[in-house]
Amino acid sequence: MDLFEYQARDIFEKHGVPVLGGVVATTPEEAREGAEKLGGGTVVVKAQVKTGGRGKAGGVKLAHSPEETAEKAEQILGMDIKGHTVHRVMIAQGAKIAEEYYFSVLLDRSNRNYLAMCSVEGGMEIEQLAVERPEALARIAVDPAVGIDAAKADEIVTAAGFADDVKASVAEVIQQLWTVFKQEDATLVEVNPLVKTEDGSIVALDGKVTLDENASFRHPDHEALEDKAAADPLEAKAKENDLNYVKLDGEVGIIGNGAGLVMSTLDVVAYAGEAHGGVKPANFLDIGGGANAAVMAAGLDVILGDEQVKAVFVNVFGGITACDEVANGIVGALDLLGDHATKPLVVRLDGNNVELGRQILTERNHPLVTLADTMDGGADKAAELANA
Ligand code: GDP
Ligand code: MN
Repeated sequence: MDLFEYQARDIFEKHGVPVLGGVVATTPEEAREGAEKLGGGTVVVKAQVKTGGRGKAGGVKLAHSPEETAEKAEQILGMDIKGHTVHRVMIAQGAKIAEEYYFSVLLDRSNRNYLAMCSVEGGMEIEQLAVERPEALARIAVDPAVGIDAAKADEIVTAAGFADDVKASVAEVIQQLWTVFKQEDATLVEVNPLVKTEDGSIVALDGKVTLDENASFRHPDHEALEDKAAADPLEAKAKENDLNYVKLDGEVGIIGNGAGLVMSTLDVVAYAGEAHGGVKPANFLDIGGGANAAVMAAGLDVILGDEQVKAVFVNVFGGITACDEVANGIVGALDLLGDHATKPLVVRLDGNNVELGRQILTERNHPLVTLADTMDGGADKAAELANA
């Protein structure tokens, strides 16, 4: 998960990295108040979008009074930067910059290691620097077991060629940034520019942080950092219900248990669709082991909320959760959804207690449900119904 700059700034502050005051605003009026909160002096109005090059695109502007801050915010809010609409700006305390540096630490997957990169020529786009003047960008491997301690930080600032008067203070900030990387379980922490101000202090002026979502169970506070508005609404709803859902482009909704079974169901449905107008799977949805009525209802609710879906194929192999429980889940889900359930459902059950499961569905005799004997047969029926 990539963070906005203002979120990175907050996390930096929490771990003692020197940053300047920053307030987020979504309207020119809030921007004016933000500038007042910061003391009414010079501020920088910065577009909050998850892409680089905001400066060049006109998304970073100086303002010298709260009134001017509101004007600049008005110009920047709604702007399009590389396909990202600006919904928020950060009002940041202005800095008197003497020098701009670059620092990042990231997960280096190809070398199964961490990598620190550092340059005394920051500010510009680092990809460009890496191509045009690779010798100006120090690249230092970081042993995950050791991290960036004082010795490693010194190695980095020496390799980057920092002047003696800032070496020690930059090395200290680099160690604090390592603390952010490690304690927040990040895969990237980048500061561009890391600046020396006119009074000689080192400040992280622009931060980019990517958090490792595989570690989110260790960080309950990270959930609040998610940009829920930007996520696909169906995927967001599925996530709320702990469902493993990925939206695809087709017309046949898929529900299965177990990632392997769902994957093969996608293949079989795509194949069957070739004979029925080229319909395709509409999603991946694994309801996992405990397919009770509530889980089944949540899954069906998400899939039926997809306007593109014309029919649904439920393909479940009863294991720990037996077929009768799954069947009760489907019946319960249809009852729960009531008039919300409007699309035909093809159900194929196999495995533990399959006879009982089929009997439950047969007796309920719901007008939307068709029972299928085999996976191929079910896929074909669902594709046919989706193409009707
Ligand atoms: P980016 O273009 O998206 O990377 O946005 P940055 O936050 O890095 O800002 C771009 C440039 O604007 C920086 O490299 C600085 O030169 C300048 N800038 C940013 N904040 C300040 C500030 O507080 N004072 C001054 N004078 N310049 C700033
Ligand atoms: Mn930058």
